[in-house]
Amino acid sequence: MIRQFELVERVKAYDPAVDEDALNRAYVFSMKAHGSQTRASGDPYFSHPLEVAGILTRYRLDGASIVTALLHDTLEDTKVSFDDLKQSFGEEVAQLVDGVTKLSQLELQSDKAKQAENFRKLVLAMSRDIRVLLVKLADRLHNMRTLSHIRSADKKRRIARETMDIYAPLAERIGMNDIKDELQDLAFQELNPDARDSVLKRLGFLREKGGESLIGRILDELEEILAEGGVKAVMSGREKAPYSIWGKMQHRQVGFEALSDIMAFRAVVETVADCYQALGVIHSHYPLIPGRFKDYISTPKQNGYRSLHTGVVGPEGQRIEVQIRTTEMHDIAERGVAAHWQYKEGLQHPTDGRQYRWLQELLDILESAAGPEEFLEHTKLEMFHDQVFCFSPKGDVYALPQGATPIDFAYAVHSEVGDHCVGAKVNGRMVPLRVALQNGDQVEILTSKKQTPSPEWEQVVVTGKARSRIRRFVHREQQKQYVSLGRDILEKSAQKAKRELTEAMLRKVTEALHCDRLEDLYARVGDGQITAREVIDKVYPESKRLIPSLNLGRRARPKSKAGDHAVPIRGLIPGMAMHLAKCCYPLPGDRIVGIVTTGKGVTIHTIDCDTLANFSDSPERWLDVAWDVGDGQDGKLVSRLLAVLINEPGSLGDLASVIAKHEGNISNLKFTNRTVDFFDMMVDVEVRDAKHLATIVAALRAAPAVVSVSRARH
Ligand code: MN
Repeated sequence: MIRQFELVERVKAYDPAVDEDALNRAYVFSMKAHGSQTRASGDPYFSHPLEVAGILTRYRLDGASIVTALLHDTLEDTKVSFDDLKQSFGEEVAQLVDGVTKLSQLELQSDKAKQAENFRKLVLAMSRDIRVLLVKLADRLHNMRTLSHIRSADKKRRIARETMDIYAPLAERIGMNDIKDELQDLAFQELNPDARDSVLKRLGFLREKGGESLIGRILDELEEILAEGGVKAVMSGREKAPYSIWGKMQHRQVGFEALSDIMAFRAVVETVADCYQALGVIHSHYPLIPGRFKDYISTPKQNGYRSLHTGVVGPEGQRIEVQIRTTEMHDIAERGVAAHWQYKEGLQHPTDGRQYRWLQELLDILESAAGPEEFLEHTKLEMFHDQVFCFSPKGDVYALPQGATPIDFAYAVHSEVGDHCVGAKVNGRMVPLRVALQNGDQVEILTSKKQTPSPEWEQVVVTGKARSRIRRFVHREQQKQYVSLGRDILEKSAQKAKRELTEAMLRKVTEALHCDRLEDLYARVGDGQITAREVIDKVYPESKRLIPSLNLGRRARPKSKAGDHAVPIRGLIPGMAMHLAKCCYPLPGDRIVGIVTTGKGVTIHTIDCDTLANFSDSPERWLDVAWDVGDGQDGKLVSRLLAVLINEPGSLGDLASVIAKHEGNISNLKFTNRTVDFFDMMVDVEVRDAKHLATIVAALRAAPAVVSVSRARH
């Protein structure tokens, strides 16, 4: 526990004019008020407000905030009244403590408040004086640090969830990044310890791969280069927090690979001019990775963050990110609002006009910011942010849309290269053809005369050129197959109907059936546009009524499984059969849509299922539906994952154990493609809902054997 004089000394160190007497009185007042109360850990209750005050001294907050921290639980948990506080510590402190208390009460009611965003706004609105929020954040931070002492698992989870959904984003909004990082990491540890472990393991693996001193060597070289360039800089290298790495892995298709995914190198310099000079020095020494440069000095983030970010192929060929900022900017990046206060306002009374106006502006920005778009705002100025620039081995640059794959690249080089593409090396390493290219990648396409475009490719390309070329080829191939299938169907149907059906007879009815050539007729029978019966009826018009319904040339529809009906979905037509589509395997939590098929009922697809494109011309068949399950979905549903693994012993075992560890059950497993380096597979997994599956996907991405994994969409 911090002792009384220690606390006072800490505050005096940054604010010599602080009201020492008020601090001393608050210390004693709070200790007496909490008396013999204890925390879940068994510690005296008073240790908590004292720690909260201690946290706030790190942010060099004013005396009133520290006094408030000491008293913050007295209104709620002791017999002390608002008037008592007002009498002993004045109106300002009493109001602050009252504000913190109101926030805590809000928290109790919010248990069911699902709309975290609205709640966050409410919290901000209630903390008219930003110091209320700062005390509340420190309070939450200390409660999270001591979370393990709480016995009820439910309560622990609830607190952690709330921290993740509400307090960490709030800390970020007001720019207090180190509090945000710590809150997120503590909550992550409680909510998903397995995921956190797998990130830490992966970090260890990457660290080992680079060699113990790699980071040190990079730092040394950067320091040297900057010194030669005449810039005085303090360099540091920092690993990103496990939770932010995990977040990235959940949103991106690939696991983390490069050092730049996990490390941030930082140069802290003296002046703004130094920042740009340092940037110049770094760019003149190392090739820069296009699209990675961000100037948050000329365009600060809305939470006040300022810095230059750039990505280069740095020392030892490592792709690294470097952040360049002044000491003041650095301080603001770490301490956010609290630092602003000091730089902008000095340590004068924070309720004066200027302070208040600034706070009001901040609240206005937060009020008007409409969710994630706000974050996109920062990248708006970045030119070409929807494009990636890749290089051929000769150094030619190709601009491709975001999400482009090596196949797109191959077709961009030349149609022939695309058609015969069998593999690709990105930055010297073999990669699967479906991997999305990143800015600055060097791509080498391997070809073979024997290779032809695969229908699968159409799903992995994003450029029009590649798509149309693949489609044309596939269409031609399909036509060939339909022709032979149609010929087959007609032959068998004729046998069944005991009729003769020669080519000459068919030629005679070709025109009547609106076909140009006989080939055409075969093809249209093959793909089901014309039934065999229609053809036979045309050849033998007199027999029309004698032939029983043949239902030829179409595949029999499989009956929907009885089990599917147990899945609760809102918006269905009563009495109509329903089943879940076997292309996208929808799960509770997914956004879904129903497609009505006469005689078959309703098929439920996920909203992003590729199959839906087939129904875009028939809006009358679309049915608005939604899941009707709460959080406690008992049954398990099957969903399908497409994974690419490294072809080496143990890969498959790794995959299976990760899935098992996260309580998924593999119900089917199939290799779809196998090469020397990789194999593609299809894995059916039984899960509770979409969230459960997302967790498994993210955990798989962390596994070293897994190159990529995604949900089936077609
Ligand atoms: Mn508290």
